[in-house]
Amino acid sequence: MSVHVLEHPLAAHILTHLRDKTTKPATFRTLAYQLSLLLAIEATRDIEVETKMIETPLEPMESHVLAHQPLVVVPILRAGLGMVQPFTDIFPDVSVGYVGLERDHETAQARSYYCKLPPLAGRHVFIVDPMLATGGSAVQALTVVKQHGATDARLVCIVSAPEGVADVEKYHPGTTIHTAALDRELNVRKYILPGLGDFGDRLYGT
Ligand code: URA
Repeated sequence: MSVHVLEHPLAAHILTHLRDKTTKPATFRTLAYQLSLLLAIEATRDIEVETKMIETPLEPMESHVLAHQPLVVVPILRAGLGMVQPFTDIFPDVSVGYVGLERDHETAQARSYYCKLPPLAGRHVFIVDPMLATGGSAVQALTVVKQHGATDARLVCIVSAPEGVADVEKYHPGTTIHTAALDRELNVRKYILPGLGDFGDRLYGT
């Protein structure tokens, strides 16, 4: 298992305001965008580049551009939608797939209600879900994308719980997880502590 916790003063600053219960949905959405952008940059640190000859105003040089290997971002609906735009903003050729899994508030189990995915074989697939809590949704999403041909699927999360990380490791060993925070634990209702509450509710003001 490879868990990468984003260590950056700006990430810590943004996360503090996301966690703050007085932060309103409009600000929450902006902060979620900013933190997801930092995560998207970090999670794509190892994508392929190719060389390109260009001329600066002063001289020719050999430089680098992204290799033509479009990325795929797969938000887990609905909260994951809040993490998609940073990927589409900085990677114009990115494809977007959707996996709809919702958490039953009574049982805390993930239930699948929608799946629409582009071809995944041979592409870097970034499953985005802000809260890695029990791991149930992440495990199901990883299973779904692998069934659709993904061989390189990573998770990108804002806050993760140790229980979720362990669940992903149990069912999908070796998965890379990029997260802005690894929190303490889940409470009895399977919310992350200290966490930030229900991400979807805070994002959409529901
Ligand atoms: N989903 C959330 O939105 N928040 C949590 O704390 C756990 C799961």
